[in-house]
Amino acid sequence: MSLRVYNTMSAQVEEFQTLHDKEVRMYACGPTVYDYGHIGNFRTFIAVDMLQRFLRQSGYRVHYVMNITDVDDRIIRNAARDGVSVQQYTAKYEKAFLEDAAMIGIEQPHLVRATENISEMADFVAKLQAKGVAYRTDDGSYYFRIAKFPAYGKLSKKDFSGMIDGARVDVDEYDKDSARDFALWKAPKPGEASWQTSIGPGRPGWHLECSVMSMKELGDSFDLHAGGEDLIFPHHENEIAQSESLTGKTFARFWFHVRFLLVEGEKMSKRLGNFYTLRDLVLKGHKPSSVRYLLTSVPYRNQLNFTFDGLKQAAVSVERLRNFRQRLSEQSFSPGCNPEMQTLARETITHMREALEDDLNTAQAEAAILKMVRQANSALDAGSVKKEDIAPLLAALEKFDEIFAVLADDDRPKMKAVFDWAMSEGREKDISPELREIVQSGQSSDADIEEKIAEMEAARRARNFKLSDSLRAELIAAGIMIENTKDGVRWRRK
Ligand code: AMP
Ligand code: ZN
Repeated sequence: MSLRVYNTMSAQVEEFQTLHDKEVRMYACGPTVYDYGHIGNFRTFIAVDMLQRFLRQSGYRVHYVMNITDVDDRIIRNAARDGVSVQQYTAKYEKAFLEDAAMIGIEQPHLVRATENISEMADFVAKLQAKGVAYRTDDGSYYFRIAKFPAYGKLSKKDFSGMIDGARVDVDEYDKDSARDFALWKAPKPGEASWQTSIGPGRPGWHLECSVMSMKELGDSFDLHAGGEDLIFPHHENEIAQSESLTGKTFARFWFHVRFLLVEGEKMSKRLGNFYTLRDLVLKGHKPSSVRYLLTSVPYRNQLNFTFDGLKQAAVSVERLRNFRQRLSEQSFSPGCNPEMQTLARETITHMREALEDDLNTAQAEAAILKMVRQANSALDAGSVKKEDIAPLLAALEKFDEIFAVLADDDRPKMKAVFDWAMSEGREKDISPELREIVQSGQSSDADIEEKIAEMEAARRARNFKLSDSLRAELIAAGIMIENTKDGVRWRRK
């Protein structure tokens, strides 16, 4: 195995080497759970998922840790707006994130939550203060003094020689060109969630969370740290400053950053109306496998422009792969083997591996498998595929799918889950006719419908009208006409 991967720190493609033989310790900055995940988030998470899958396929044991940022300015603001606690607010979006990640084929990393590591964070700040690199302000907040870390800027390659010692900022995401002492710990403001700790009351800054949790799980030095390219500065620069000033050791060896996703040629934004969560796309009737395929179709460092044409194209490619596999398993073949098919399958596996070893060139790996499918389909048409060719061709598909994860034919149940979620959230109007059709193509059986009606009736009798109404709406959305008669409820399909 000789993976070569781009390292933002050296600004070069490097031979991937680990600190511990055959073991990779890696960390990705996870979601801030204040809303549903959008397709830009998922581009990044899928790229890291593919990296860890490829490392495992290459024989490494992988410790992959991801944090859930479950306290920050936006969360506190939104929870207050909705009149719920921070925990109640984030639980909903963390659950949604995990469902979405599973829906789009992301294998679950080891998850760590900011709010479960608060006392470790306070201790970390105390140690930085003891080293003279952190200071406390009158209100009880703590800041990192970047003038004490001369290497500041080494990841983002920014020159901060003109910075003003002592200038401070307490928002987590700040102006990309200014270097300021950043907040490690924020003193409580009235009405805000805060914790009582050894350094006083307050809550951690976002940068601190990642330093503390990655080192707690993976050690002072680990192999790889990942995130979207927007995190290079200030977030990752600040993580390095905190961690390396404390330990004097290299924090993460490789820095893996995923290029920002564009939508129809523009930066995704709610204002431009080109902002899509994964659920928005499923509501429009797109399959999760098509979305995953599209997000993997451009190597992670290249610009990926998400378009609906591209999404349709991705759906066609996934269908082609699935149909091919179906053809191999359904047909009967004459005994023997065709050396050409044997070579084709073997070479495809080699080409895929070479492509992925080349800084995860997913586009080339996909081109290799599609080429195999094209050639093998022609051979199938010509009747020249033999019994012993099936296993090697399937093996190539399987190697591909260990990384790309699009072949399992399980889109419909996943889409049904999004359908049910939309109904339960009162978002029936957002369900497209396309999604409705896909969900209904696996029509509920009569027994399912009878059962749901009985449930609805029971809810009505118990005067739980909210539940009975929502069950009724669900039935109607699934194309069931319901009539109340003197003999009870009658129903028929539309
Ligand atoms: P957030 O939930 O905003 O903290 O972001 C979670 C992850 O998604 C981070 O690694 C971000 O860098 C990444 N991310 C956010 N927007 C995009 C985008 N448009 N393209 C790629 N990655 C993104
Ligand atoms: Zn982070």
